[in-house]
Amino acid sequence: MTVSKSPLQLLFMGTGTSTGLPLTPCLTKSNPYPEAFSDMVPLLRATESSNSPLAHVKGTWNPDGEFPSNIPCPCCRSAVDPDVPEGYKNKRGNTAVLLRKKNKNGQYKNVLVDVGKTFREQAGRFFPKWGVKTIDAVLLTHGHADAYFGLDDLREWCIRQGRAIPVYLNQETYEKVAEAFPYMVDKTKASGGGDVPQLIWKIIKDDEDFEVEGIDVKVLAVHHGIYFHTISPAPGPTPQSTPNAPPSKRIEPEPLICLGFMFDNEIVYISDVSSIPESTWERMSNRSSLINSTDPSILSASETISVDGDLTQANDKNKLPVLIIDALWPLRPHASHFSLQQALQTALRLKAQYTYLIGSTHPTTHFMWEEICLSLFDEHGERDHPDRVQSDWLVNKVKEKVFTSKKGQGIGEEWKNHGGVVRPAWDGLVLEILEGDETKDVERQDLSTRGLVF
Ligand SMILES: [Zn+2]
Ligand SMILES: [Zn+2]
Repeated sequence: MTVSKSPLQLLFMGTGTSTGLPLTPCLTKSNPYPEAFSDMVPLLRATESSNSPLAHVKGTWNPDGEFPSNIPCPCCRSAVDPDVPEGYKNKRGNTAVLLRKKNKNGQYKNVLVDVGKTFREQAGRFFPKWGVKTIDAVLLTHGHADAYFGLDDLREWCIRQGRAIPVYLNQETYEKVAEAFPYMVDKTKASGGGDVPQLIWKIIKDDEDFEVEGIDVKVLAVHHGIYFHTISPAPGPTPQSTPNAPPSKRIEPEPLICLGFMFDNEIVYISDVSSIPESTWERMSNRSSLINSTDPSILSASETISVDGDLTQANDKNKLPVLIIDALWPLRPHASHFSLQQALQTALRLKAQYTYLIGSTHPTTHFMWEEICLSLFDEHGERDHPDRVQSDWLVNKVKEKVFTSKKGQGIGEEWKNHGGVVRPAWDGLVLEILEGDETKDVERQDLSTRGLVF
């Protein structure tokens, strides 16, 4: 394993779902969210006293108001409304991060994790401000459009850098890329006279450890929903009863593997997950032995970490400095993504000191997520905000349905005793891991990111 003194920086390129936010149907009101999602965030309709262009400031929606106050979805509206404090944090690109570390010459090396549909827009928003001048490697988590459809936009980076960019991905994702972009894996399939991205494909296994640009990477394979694939019958004689029937094919469900990663033994990043196999829990729990394998005083993490068990034996050195984890909705479960409850359970089991929630969708706003996180320590409800009324309603629901268990001690109580800091991430947030496990947030506010255009 590499030993490097240079701190690892992690820059959130995108913290949203596959669609990104705001959703354009929300902006046009052609198919408003309210009826479908009103059990998650209630729609507060305009009243006589809220008949103002800034009706949402009073916690209501005025359909006759001017754009953007006439948008019913609080989340998508705030993404485009400069009057909502920090509303731009509701503008969320496809989930992606940029890792940065200085090499021996003091130059930053940049490693992208996922290059999705919104990559070009995200790079335009953040790279100039962050001073990103090269793309040195790419890691892909899985073969969905929000993880790799921006690969074509690496073309100009390859040309300017005068070299190919290595892309680390598993075999299944490689096959998806080859289907979508045949010219990227076989130049004879390129048409016209234009350039194509020069990419070097590095196939990685689901349990691999490797190093890229001075960063130690441990692959963490997780399940991301299921997919159905067709199994053709083995060749053999056709059954007598249906001599002319074509051989039947079986449709089999299988978990889709998405790659999470542990970086430098300090950051666990899991962007898309519906369940975590036991073998991956073991790989995540092995952190202490990697860091301090010669220190016999450190208990094996697998002996002490359990969501349901007694956590009081926890050794500080077993704590994970940073967990970045998928949490689509605060109340509902989902077939392909973690909910808030599952994300918090993961944080408890890993003893995460800082947990950043990513991958959330509308109509839950950034402010509502902040309030939910604060409510774990009863610190919510203090700030004035246009989302206040809806936020209070949601926090109460979350307390009742997620934090409290019918049997007595729920996850809320366990969090008060053993949980760390948890908060929603947002596009543009920068983390830096300093020596001694001290984690620093560096909020890089960029006014140019507030509107629809970058
Ligand atoms: Zn919306
Ligand atoms: Zn996906």
